[in-house]
Order: sequence, then C-alpha cells, then structure tokens
Amino acid sequence: MSVSKATGTHIVKKLSAAFICIWLLLGVTFSAFFLAKEYDHHCHMDDCPICQTMAVCESFVNELGSVILTAAVAFACLVLTILLIKQSFEILCAPTPVSCKVRLNN
Ligand SMILES: [Zn+2]
Repeated sequence: MSVSKATGTHIVKKLSAAFICIWLLLGVTFSAFFLAKEYDHHCHMDDCPICQTMAVCESFVNELGSVILTAAVAFACLVLTILLIKQSFEILCAPTPVSCKVRLNN
C-alpha cells in the first residue's frame, strides 16, 4: 500500500519536473524568437509595449541562459566524476589469482 503511494508521488514529481523543464525551454525559445524578430525595431514612442516585452524577454533569456550554461557545466562534471569512479573501481577490483581461484602451488 505504501509502495504504491511512494510510486505515485514519485511519478507526480517526475511529471512536474518534466512539465517545468518543457515550460522553461519553450519560454526561452519563444523569447529568443521574439528578440530575433524584433531585432531591428525602431521605436518612436514612450512606453512602447514591444520595447517592454523585449526587455522582459532579454532578461529572461539572459538569466536562464546562464542557468543552462551552469547546469551544462555541472552535468559535464558529474559525467566526468562518474567515469573516473568507474575507472578507479576497475583498477581497484582487478582480478587477482585468488579471485580467479588459481591454485598456487610452491
Ligand atoms: Zn519600441
């Protein structure tokens, strides 16, 4: 009974994380497209909604761009650490004559 509740909570957390990731990715993508589309915007009035939207999109892309870069570096460090640990286990757990059950006479 408690196992199914834990699994259900685990699935909800995974789905929530996936939904947030997709939502942020779409936000960054559409913000970048908007900035690219309005790159040559010539403003002639105060409180221009396009300029305000561009400022919001620019800050959103800058903030999440740095977060994505940090996450990519952290992921690369994690993968490198896992590879180093795996290689150290292979070195430390090298087969010995005893583990291979070789009989050593004399
Ligand atoms: Zn404008």
